[in-house]
Amino acid sequence: MDDCIFCQIVDGEIPSRTVHEDDDVLAFLDANPLAPGHTLVIPKSHHESLNDLPADVGSEVFAAVHALTPAAEAAVDAPASTVAFNNGEAAGQEVPHVHAHIVPRFEADGGRPIHALVSDRPDLSDDELDDIAAAMRA
Ligand SMILES: [Zn+2]
Repeated sequence: MDDCIFCQIVDGEIPSRTVHEDDDVLAFLDANPLAPGHTLVIPKSHHESLNDLPADVGSEVFAAVHALTPAAEAAVDAPASTVAFNNGEAAGQEVPHVHAHIVPRFEADGGRPIHALVSDRPDLSDDELDDIAAAMRA
């Protein structure tokens, strides 16, 4: 994808502070970090969202996330981290190339948990929950 900024990073056309690279995965520091050590982990091949990501590539991405999360925390002496994907534009995904965020977290850093993602939580009935679970199992 010629106009994809992350593909351009993979190709070396845009510099990045690489922290990990293997055959399938690249990880680098976010250029506009939410915290020191904020790291992005991407598949080298262009896939827009998790929904498009082949399972084997997804496994490699997760293996890198798994290894780099404690490394990012240790590098900046953080006691915790938030690890997340914004999956799709409606979820706030800004670059349409799958990427995991590893955001080191600190006591009283002013950040919020995943539970604070939405301010207007749905009030779902048992039937609605059952229907959603059934649709996912189907
Ligand atoms: Zn791309």
